[in-house]
Amino acid sequence: MTNFREPSVTPPEEVTVEDRALRPQRLSEMIGQRDVFERLGIAVDAAQKRNEVLGHILFDGPPGLGKTTFATCIPRELGTPLQIASGAALAAPKDLLPYLTNVSERSVLFIDEIHRLPHAVEEFLYPAMEDFRIDITLGDGIAARTINMPLRPFTLIGATTRAGLISAPLRDRFQLREHLDFYSIEELAEIVRRSALKLAMPMDNESANEIARRSRGTPRLANNRLRWIRDYSTSRCNGRVDVEIVCTALQMQGIDELGLDGFDRRYLETIQRVFGGGPVGVEAVAHTMNTAIDTLEDDIEPYMLRCELVVRTPRGRRITARGSQHIGSFSAAHEQRRLFGG
Ligand code: ADP
Repeated sequence: MTNFREPSVTPPEEVTVEDRALRPQRLSEMIGQRDVFERLGIAVDAAQKRNEVLGHILFDGPPGLGKTTFATCIPRELGTPLQIASGAALAAPKDLLPYLTNVSERSVLFIDEIHRLPHAVEEFLYPAMEDFRIDITLGDGIAARTINMPLRPFTLIGATTRAGLISAPLRDRFQLREHLDFYSIEELAEIVRRSALKLAMPMDNESANEIARRSRGTPRLANNRLRWIRDYSTSRCNGRVDVEIVCTALQMQGIDELGLDGFDRRYLETIQRVFGGGPVGVEAVAHTMNTAIDTLEDDIEPYMLRCELVVRTPRGRRITARGSQHIGSFSAAHEQRRLFGG
């Protein structure tokens, strides 16, 4: 038990000051995901009324939909401390130990990308989650002995983009399992309006709706698009924003009417052009695009499947008529702009 690392108190992903400024601080500031919000509200309220520790919670869903935000709002509601760890950085039980020994009564430990925990770390977590206890083995072979160390009752919140990769024993130890789905245009438009307000940026409803339509159902992308439009408008339009400025700024980033960017379209084009529309395995598409399979499976495909631009078949991915039509119409519009401008 040497080499203890101090627990990180910063989120695992890169978070800018503006990210933090736009991130809701309380559950009541969360827009959309009403069912999840209601259930979490009830669980938090009940834990507070009974003076008990909140049960463990697992969030799953594509990136940028609010898993970290929900996880960081919950301890604020409870008035308890939060520690943040990433599954990818917890290579052995000893890496988890400082977090567990640091938990205070009813505090929250958030593990992002929990599907990346190695099996040994996962097993180490089981008694911690179930009985608030850890079993530490000292020594080797015949001289080995196990000591049990009690922990203060705490809440584990896990987040994953791959619910399917979580083992059943780990999954079953979470009392609440919440799936986050893509946001509606109306919900995203509301997020855009609120973020614009926080950035002191003018925003009419038509512009907010246009940004929402082009954000792939994802709040993180809506906020990223908004920041780019703010830069564009400051640099080129004296800080003015209208729907035409929104369209021009997003077009400059290669974001089309469906909110797809160049990389998304390259995925569709690869299936269409290189593999004759499919079916094709995701590995072959990833190799051809020179990218990681995880990037396609986590970041690109969920929205493509949701929009029915591609379908999954037992023999691999296949582009749909809608998918082919979308690339066709984008290429035609692109060519027209190239020839005639605008
Ligand atoms: P995830 O952990 O699922 O990848 P995050 O929780 O980091 O996603 O969310 C990304 C950003 O999107 C946050 O910084 C926040 O500004 C915004 N966001 C996410 N969900 C919501 C929501 N329900 N309401 C308002 N903003 C949201």
